[in-house]
Amino acid sequence: MEHRIGQGWDLHRRVADRPLILGGVTIPFEQGLDGHSDADVLTHAIIDALLGAIADGDIGTHFPDTDPAWHGASSLDLLSRALARVRAAGWRVVNLDATVIAERPKLAPHRDGMRAALARALGIDAAAVSVKAKTAAGLGAEGRGDAISAQAVVLLARG
Ligand code: MG
Repeated sequence: MEHRIGQGWDLHRRVADRPLILGGVTIPFEQGLDGHSDADVLTHAIIDALLGAIADGDIGTHFPDTDPAWHGASSLDLLSRALARVRAAGWRVVNLDATVIAERPKLAPHRDGMRAALARALGIDAAAVSVKAKTAAGLGAEGRGDAISAQAVVLLARG
């Protein structure tokens, strides 16, 4: 059995008049995230972790924000497309561990919803999908409320 790990990180600016979508779940909040697609920062970090694990570029390589095809795209759809590349290379996802860094809103009530949506998109059991939420102690872009960021690690296996 062969294994690969992949790591991803992303950050989006918080803005008014946009929905807040994290892990495919729309979360009630007075601000959303700026971006070309639906700006789902958590799912973007996961996509980069998947592509990183198979050394196949990054989200910008495959879904460039200069391409109108991805304007307003569902990030879960982009995740499915990245997963197809992983599977085509012969790999399957073993587990995912992710962290969202946001001063607000409180994400704990939405954690299981995000895990379920991501598990469905990845075709794995929700027990193999971890989503954690941290504040930034009032420091940096996330702590000031200017941005939300996310980090993700995935393990792949084949054979
Ligand atoms: Mg992004």
